[in-house]
Amino acid sequence: MLGTDLDADEFRAMIRGFLRAAPRPTGLRNYGPTPTADDVEPGRIWHKYLLEHGYACLHWPVVHGGSDAPVLAQAIFAEECAYADVPRQLAMTGIDLVGPVLIEYGSTEQQARYLEPLRTGDHIWTQLFSEPGAGSDLAAVRTKAAQTSNGWRVDGQKVWSSGAISAKYGLLLARTGTESHRGLSMFIVPMAAEGVRVEPIVQIDGESKFNEVFLDGVELAADALIGKIGQGWNIAMLTLGRERLTLGTQAVGMFKRHERMVDAACSRGRLDPVLARSMTRIWARMWLLRFTWQRAVADGDLSSPAFSVLKLMTSETDRDLGDLATDVLGTDVCTDPSTEQDGAELVHAMLVGRAQTILGGTSEIQRNILGERVLKLPKEPR
Ligand SMILES: Cc1cc2nc3c(=O)[nH]c(=O)nc-3n(C[C@H](O)[C@H](O)[C@H](O)COP(=O)(O)OP(=O)(O)OC[C@H]3O[C@@H](n4cnc5c(N)ncnc54)[C@H](O)[C@@H]3O)c2cc1C
Repeated sequence: MLGTDLDADEFRAMIRGFLRAAPRPTGLRNYGPTPTADDVEPGRIWHKYLLEHGYACLHWPVVHGGSDAPVLAQAIFAEECAYADVPRQLAMTGIDLVGPVLIEYGSTEQQARYLEPLRTGDHIWTQLFSEPGAGSDLAAVRTKAAQTSNGWRVDGQKVWSSGAISAKYGLLLARTGTESHRGLSMFIVPMAAEGVRVEPIVQIDGESKFNEVFLDGVELAADALIGKIGQGWNIAMLTLGRERLTLGTQAVGMFKRHERMVDAACSRGRLDPVLARSMTRIWARMWLLRFTWQRAVADGDLSSPAFSVLKLMTSETDRDLGDLATDVLGTDVCTDPSTEQDGAELVHAMLVGRAQTILGGTSEIQRNILGERVLKLPKEPR
């Protein structure tokens, strides 16, 4: 069923039936790629249910307990979870980013130790890449890992670390040399280690998924290094790209939200010709993206430039759709959405929509990548 001869319609119908019948743990909500601290327990029970039925780590190789599923199957599963309003796994960072890193670059011991608890949903990981002075320009990372007689000593600060408050381990990009890219190495950090301090950040929507992580004299064993010294940049690049699979689920969310927007505008008598035109334009963009997405996942190559175009356009369309909330609801509701349920959901989506054009590479960086690597335009002056 999950091989290259996948019958997409049959698979979709099977997943839809499975999700419809699946018992929902108390407190489970569709929290997106990262659970808040309160989401972890229901999310874990849900993950284990998916695992029992063979739907965890679809993209991992069979030898590590995955299904080696084609991109199309992964995309259909993610979309159906979005339709059913449930998360597709406990947390994205560990399974989608760290798993493939350990499978490609981890030692046999690291694979044996870390992959299984990731697969079973027992361990959450956080990605410790971004710093106050290093985001788009990731090679500017300054957190330092100095070699000691029996391992490493880490000092520095990370920021925007999703899920760090619930994480057992962090995937850390740190500086081990002076050369910009080749001076970077990748490490595993136990989040309970002495010298690691996690400070949650409260977001604009009131939730807290982000954190600051302070690393003060953190001692790591020699086997905390992933791959070789200086290989950190190459390893980091492997983690970028998998996030693209969330684009399909984002699209499902957009269609649902567009419908709610139209209902809210009609029931409030706000659907004037100007708003109707804006809504139709966005709806047309959503369909164009859906067709491009369907072609791209059917081709099955996650490194195709189509996914960069989709990342750019989907996140900007999502943001623009969210922004319509001010026209649909009026600015008063936007400043105090607490009294109206449908309004609150739309305002929440508007606020969360700001993140989409930043995470996994900002829109400006996506445009640079498309211009330089795909269209072969001259490189930006550096
Ligand atoms: C929801 C979410 C989850 C995240 N989770 C994590 C996580 O778990 N771990 C982690 O390490 N990080 C995480 N991040 C951080 C994310 O990777 C960074 O926010 C992103 O790389 C941008 O970096 P920055 O915020 O430092 O912005 P900057 O790089 O400082 O950019 C600021 C502005 O300048 C623009 N800009 C920068 N360089 C250029 C250029 N060369 N040309 C044109 N414009 C430019 C940018 O587009 C942006 O508009 C997350 C971010 C979000 C929104």
